[in-house]
Amino acid sequence: MPHIEPAGEDGAQVRAAPAANEEVERAFQLFARQQPAAPRVHDVQVQRTGGSLAVSCHCTLDAGMTITAAHELTRRMGAHLRAAVGRVDRVVIHVEPPDAK
Ligand SMILES: [Zn+2]
Repeated sequence: MPHIEPAGEDGAQVRAAPAANEEVERAFQLFARQQPAAPRVHDVQVQRTGGSLAVSCHCTLDAGMTITAAHELTRRMGAHLRAAVGRVDRVVIHVEPPDAK
């Protein structure tokens, strides 16, 4: 009999529970609503590794926004998420121009 490891054993990344996904999504949307630049957050993915969460998302920003401003915005977005959802470890935010899908 071949030995088959069940998915999601220690260290492996597995898709987080829907509740965790919703919590992350809500935190992002709350942050986005408070920004004058109105970033549009989509494609939010939450993976669970042990007890912590790894989050990635796309963030659409105005074409006129400078790199510095975009960097500052995504930095604050990551900080907000970590403060709002305690067990977030890694946050990767892909910045996109408005015409990207
Ligand atoms: Zn996108």
